[in-house]
Amino acid sequence: MQNTLANYNFIELIMVDYVELLKAHGLKATFQRMHLLEVLHNHGHMDVEEIYAEVAKVHPSLSLATVYKNIIIMTKKGVLVEVAINGKKSKYEIAKEEHLHLVCTKCGSIQDVFTPFKAIENIDELEKFTVEKQEITLYGVCASCSSILHTS
Ligand SMILES: [Zn+2]
Ligand SMILES: [Zn+2]
Repeated sequence: MQNTLANYNFIELIMVDYVELLKAHGLKATFQRMHLLEVLHNHGHMDVEEIYAEVAKVHPSLSLATVYKNIIIMTKKGVLVEVAINGKKSKYEIAKEEHLHLVCTKCGSIQDVFTPFKAIENIDELEKFTVEKQEITLYGVCASCSSILHTS
């Protein structure tokens, strides 16, 4: 499992030990960090307050500042990824395969879509632009919101 850590996919991630995941990114596997990862794994994309609300259920003594600090460290080290949402607080998720996000402007749900970014694959060659980070977010109405819109 250890040598596949660099390119684990979502299914493998379920089995990856959080201790190994943190160590592979040069971080100490503290109980707090492991709990943060578990919360994010179970809930998907969450902002800092949402993560804190979940974590506080189990560890009421943990402060928001501590949770925030750990989220920032894990994001810097590449364990977590920040997902910027227009007009909203950033969400965080455990780093996984490249994917784009579908954000529903009605209910705020965020859906992962694993599709290759074909159209922008050669952008660094074509534009002589060194890509350091890529994120694609589409805004619209999700399937369940649009079915409500059409039946009412
Ligand atoms: Zn929706
Ligand atoms: Zn995502």
